[in-house]
Amino acid sequence: MEKIKMTTPLVEMDGDEMTRILWKMIKDNLLEPYIDLKTEYYDLGLEHRNETDDQVTVDSALATKKYKVAVKCATITPNAARMDEYDLKEMWKSPNGTIRAILDGTVFRAPIVVKGIEPCVKNWKKPITIARHAYGDVYKGSEMKIPGGAGKVELVYTAEDGSQTKELVHEFDGPGIVQGMHNINKSIESFARSCFSYALDTKQDLWFATKDTISKKYDHTFKDIFQEIFDAEYADQFKEAGIEYFYTLIDDAVARVMKSEGGYIWACKNYDGDVMSDMVSSAFGSLAMMTSVLVSPDGYYEYEAAHGTVQRHYYKHLKGEETSTNSVATIFAWTGALRKRGELDGNKDLMDFADKLEKATIDTIEAGEMTKDLALITTIENPTVLNSEEFIKAIAKRL
Ligand code: NAP
Ligand code: MG
Repeated sequence: MEKIKMTTPLVEMDGDEMTRILWKMIKDNLLEPYIDLKTEYYDLGLEHRNETDDQVTVDSALATKKYKVAVKCATITPNAARMDEYDLKEMWKSPNGTIRAILDGTVFRAPIVVKGIEPCVKNWKKPITIARHAYGDVYKGSEMKIPGGAGKVELVYTAEDGSQTKELVHEFDGPGIVQGMHNINKSIESFARSCFSYALDTKQDLWFATKDTISKKYDHTFKDIFQEIFDAEYADQFKEAGIEYFYTLIDDAVARVMKSEGGYIWACKNYDGDVMSDMVSSAFGSLAMMTSVLVSPDGYYEYEAAHGTVQRHYYKHLKGEETSTNSVATIFAWTGALRKRGELDGNKDLMDFADKLEKATIDTIEAGEMTKDLALITTIENPTVLNSEEFIKAIAKRL
C-alpha cells in the first residue's frame, strides 16, 4: 500500500516510563507502516527536560501554536523522589501545567466506550465528556484559621485610587475558619468559548451548571458570561448543528447525569470538574480508557491519554518482566490528533485512517483480546489476556 501523505506536521511530545515504551510500539506497528508520518518531535522525557532547563516544554507549546495540533505522551511531574531518581537540577513544574498556561485551554476528558466494558451506571450508553475550568476558585484561594476570641472578617477591595469597598464575611466570637477565592472574567470567557467550540466540533450538546441561586454574584457571573457568549456568538451555529446549550443548577445536573444516557459535554467549574471527572472515569470502567484533549479558545488542540506514565509497570519492564499495559488511550490520543490534522488540512485519507485505527482497536477488545486491566473487569467470557506488545500487534493485524 502507498503510505498516506501529510502536508503539515503534527507536534509530537514524547514522554516517560511505560508510556514512552508504548509510544514507540504504537508508532512502529500502527502508524509508520501506513502513514508518511510528519511530526516536529519534542522530547519531554524528564531527562531531556532537565538537560534543557525545561525549555523543551515551552518550545513544544510554542510549536503547538504554530501547527495547531499536538499529541502528547504521559510525562512525570517531578516530586522529591524523582529529584533523586533523575538527579534533577530543579523540581520542574508539571509539563501539562506549563503547556496549558501557554495555550490557555480547557481540558476535555472522555471515556472510550466498548462493548464488554460496561459502565457501573447501566443507562450510560454514550461517553460523558467532562470539561474542567482549570483556573482559580479554591485552587488559588487564601485561607485563615481564626484562633478564637471576638473579631470580624471582611472582604476588602482597594481600587487603584485608594477607595475601598467592603463586605462582611462573618463576626466571629470563637474559633473558626475562613477562605477567600477569586476568578477573572477573561478566564471564564475563554473557558466558555472553548466549551462552545468543542461542542460544535464534536456535535454534542453542552451542559453547564453552577450554584447561582446561592452564590448570587460569584456563581451567577459564570452563568451570565456563558449565556452572553452563547447568545452573541454561538446560538446560530448550535441551531444549525442541531445541538443544544443547557444550563441548570449543579445539583439538578448531577441528578440528571445519573439518569441520562450520556453523549454530551458537561462543563464544570474547577472543583466540580476535579471531583466529577474522577467519578465519571471510574464509573466508565478504567482510567486506561480515558482520553484527554486540551482545546484553546484560539483553536489549538493537544491530545493525550488521561492516565500517567504507569510507573509500576515500567519498573517491571526494566526488570525484564512481562507487562500488560493498556495502550488504548494513547492510541486514541494519536487518532484524535491525526483526525484533527486531516480536518484542518482537508486530508480525507488521514481522517479515514484515524477512524479505521479506532475501529480496529475497539474490535480487538470486543473480540475478547485485551490487556489485563480490562480482562479483570470485562463481561466478555474467557477473554484472552495479551501483553503490551501482543495487544498492539493484535490491533495491527485487524488494521
Ligand atoms: P498512573 O500512571 O495513571 O498509574 C496508576 C495506576 O493505574 C497504575 O499503576 C495502573 O494500576 C493503572 N493504570 C494507569 N494507566 C494504565 C494503563 N494504561 N494500563 C494499565 N493500567 C494502568 O498514575 P501514577 O502511577 O500515580 O503516576 C505515575 C507518573 O505519571 C507520575 O510521575 C505522575 O506525575 C505522572 N502523571 C502524568 C500525567 C500526564 O502526563 N498527563 C497524568 C497523571 C500522572 P496497576 O498498578 O494496579 O496495574
Ligand atoms: Mg480529581
